[in-house]
Amino acid sequence: MFSPYSDIQEPKESLPHSKTSAAAQLDELMAHLCEMQAKVAVKADASKKYLPDKQDHKASLDSMLGGLEQELQDLGIATVPKGHCASCQKSIAGKVIHALGQAWHPEHFICSHCKEEIGSSPFFERSGLAYCPKDYHNLFSPRCAYCAAPILDRVLTAMNQTWHPEHFFCSHCGEVFGAEGFHEKDKKPYCRKDFLAMFSPKCGGCNRPVLENYLSAMDTVWHPECFVCGDCFSTFSTGSFFELDGRPFCELHYHHRQGTLCYGCGQPIAGRCISAMGHKFHPEHFVCAFCLTQLSKGIFREQNGKTYCPPCFNKLFQI
Ligand SMILES: [Zn+2]
Ligand SMILES: [Zn+2]
Ligand SMILES: [Zn+2]
Ligand SMILES: [Zn+2]
Ligand SMILES: [Zn+2]
Ligand SMILES: [Zn+2]
Ligand SMILES: [Zn+2]
Ligand SMILES: [Zn+2]
Repeated sequence: MFSPYSDIQEPKESLPHSKTSAAAQLDELMAHLCEMQAKVAVKADASKKYLPDKQDHKASLDSMLGGLEQELQDLGIATVPKGHCASCQKSIAGKVIHALGQAWHPEHFICSHCKEEIGSSPFFERSGLAYCPKDYHNLFSPRCAYCAAPILDRVLTAMNQTWHPEHFFCSHCGEVFGAEGFHEKDKKPYCRKDFLAMFSPKCGGCNRPVLENYLSAMDTVWHPECFVCGDCFSTFSTGSFFELDGRPFCELHYHHRQGTLCYGCGQPIAGRCISAMGHKFHPEHFVCAFCLTQLSKGIFREQNGKTYCPPCFNKLFQI
């Protein structure tokens, strides 16, 4: 039987240090994370809320005064009026509202939008006009981008929109954002945890997102603890590994999988190799089972899975 030498292709040995596109993507992501913060501010309202001054006489006092006024008029003595209503221009005798620097009949002091009587209720002033609180907020308060309702006190400004602070939350888990702020993706806000879980590159070993520490190899990123030999799970202390089908292996297991361990000594064969009886051998380990001389380039005899040089074979088996 003739067994030629063959050369085993040296595996590609790589070092896990070069930056890959996945690593660059992760770096960019991390830089992006630090910049984003939500801004919450107490609404700066140019207008003010007022309680109008009111002179609210008791009804009995009013009628008493009315009676007194009548008596005085009967006597030819005119009473001093309380001013003229800014709305109807008539003089005010009973209750008077002082607001916006003028005097009003209570029933003539009205919301400039819905025309409902404000009277002595709280109101808002804007550009010299009075508004009931409901109309004021509907007309002038910022709107929440989530519920579209007006925002009455605290306004959160984020993503070029305004929000009720309680209505600005993670698009994935629904939690409002803490001190970490939020992270925007495709016009949606996410908490840090979900953002990283959904958008950061996945580990080449466990397929879970890679967050802080990572190792870059074979055009992807890895948790350092996941970058180990696919068979024995040992780390690559020398820094080198062997790639097979997208997974890293130690030298021994790479050769084991490739069928390139010496059948004689069990060690990997790098370089020259002899194939015989369905196995591979270091040339120096392809020897006669009896006299241990190397069976180089040669003719050998086989018996019960062992190899022999022709003289030993003849001595032992050819009687
Ligand atoms: Zn009036
Ligand atoms: Zn109104
Ligand atoms: Zn809202
Ligand atoms: Zn979330
Ligand atoms: Zn992993
Ligand atoms: Zn291994
Ligand atoms: Zn060997
Ligand atoms: Zn021999």
